[in-house]
Amino acid sequence: MTKQTYISALKNPVFRTISKASSNLKLECYVIGGYVRDFILDRGEAKDIDIVAVGSGIDLAEEVSRLLPGKPKVSIFKTYGTAMLKSGGIELEFVGARKESYSEESRNPAVENGTLEDDQNRRDFTINALALSLNEENFGTMLDPFNGIEDLQKKIIRTPLDPNITFSDDPLRMLRAIRFATQLNFNIEKKSLEAIERNAQRIKIITNERVVDELNKILLSEVPSMGFSLLHKTGLLPFILPELVALQGIDEKEGQTHKDNFWHTLEVVDNISRTTDDLWLRWAALLHDIGKAPTKRFDKKLGWTFHAHEFVGSKMVFKLFKRLKLPLNDKMKFVQKMVLMSSRPIVLASEVTDSAVRRLIFDAGEHVEALMTLCEADITTKNPKKFNKYHANFQLVRDKIVEVEERDHVRNFQPPVSGEEIMETFNLKPSREIGIIKDAIKEAILEGEIPNEYEAAHKFMLQKGAAIGLKAEKK
Ligand code: ATP
Ligand code: MG
Repeated sequence: MTKQTYISALKNPVFRTISKASSNLKLECYVIGGYVRDFILDRGEAKDIDIVAVGSGIDLAEEVSRLLPGKPKVSIFKTYGTAMLKSGGIELEFVGARKESYSEESRNPAVENGTLEDDQNRRDFTINALALSLNEENFGTMLDPFNGIEDLQKKIIRTPLDPNITFSDDPLRMLRAIRFATQLNFNIEKKSLEAIERNAQRIKIITNERVVDELNKILLSEVPSMGFSLLHKTGLLPFILPELVALQGIDEKEGQTHKDNFWHTLEVVDNISRTTDDLWLRWAALLHDIGKAPTKRFDKKLGWTFHAHEFVGSKMVFKLFKRLKLPLNDKMKFVQKMVLMSSRPIVLASEVTDSAVRRLIFDAGEHVEALMTLCEADITTKNPKKFNKYHANFQLVRDKIVEVEERDHVRNFQPPVSGEEIMETFNLKPSREIGIIKDAIKEAILEGEIPNEYEAAHKFMLQKGAAIGLKAEKK
């Protein structure tokens, strides 16, 4: 074991306070896990720090609070034996060192008090088991029983103990392995990777909320495809997103093939991740083609078709969000809208008319920019001529969107003549006719027959009313 010291990781004065508190209580304590890992990887300012105490984590937290200016509030989680307090914008999490033993059915182990080594043994990966001493006699000494520092240098994800046991004990760790590999651009060591393949079906005992936490972290990484191809390769994906697995493969009939929509999708997700950090737009990219599996047909004249896949896909989004316990709110509606509209600008790009652009802005509303970003990311052709041509076409669409919106203001369309005014003008009670006239005005504006202005819309209303046999009481 290395005996290196890392005093520079412990510059924050709070570490000396924790050290003092632990010596007051005559117990040992260490910084462990993500903070130590990220310090060595130089991953920027930490927001949380995990402290393990050989003894009561709760007692240590309370003593630390007593010594800190302002005595910050300690939140205690009795069932887990943990405590948390905030100091200078950083969350300090305290836990007592423990030894865990697992049973088949659950990822909740039986827990007993343990030594630092016991606690390091229960950690998921060697790079997450690094501990820095906060004890006065060896402040800053690194305790690295599994060569985690070497793994950090070699960019390897590896379990401290037999990976079959580690992953079977708590199958969430399989997703964490893939998530860390993706976030850090590390490789999963061969034995650990094989153990994930072997234990993949155990992921079924993990709650969807936890699965989604990891999926979101994968999606928010720089190159999310790395995570999804690992999920695919290890056999985890069918348990999590079978809709994506169904997109994989190329069929051939009468010499005609279609593209592999799974690998295409992953490229689209990587593309969009270079231009946006918006989690939901990244979800939209991931799901934009899911309707293609159930709608795939071969037609002798047309070849492979995916008729109405956007509509079918947008319906699938709801079911998928519901199953995974993703929020069923405006975020879900946004993803649905993106999937539903994902081909609209493509159709447009060949002939950019004002009225088609007005309809696009009207239908996409505030999300028209996001939709364009998705469509641009969807260009995965390897032919540089086509690539440039498609991008240039979308640039024309973007320019036209700005031009049309400046003139016509249909982005957050408000009818220029209200329902009340239609009722008053023709002396109508609430009735079908009002809707007909309102709709006709909207259509006339979108088609460019009249400008989006009161005067023109009012005149049009009078004409339309007359045409359907209504008498104006008021002009
Ligand atoms: P990040 O916060 O960036 O996700 P982290 O390493 O801090 O990374 P946490 O989920 O905050 O991850 O967990 C803190 C530490 O607790 C980890 O570094 C690891 O040592 C341990 N840990 C967390 N989850 C597990 C698990 N399922 N099995 C074993 N150890 C775990
Ligand atoms: Mg953390």
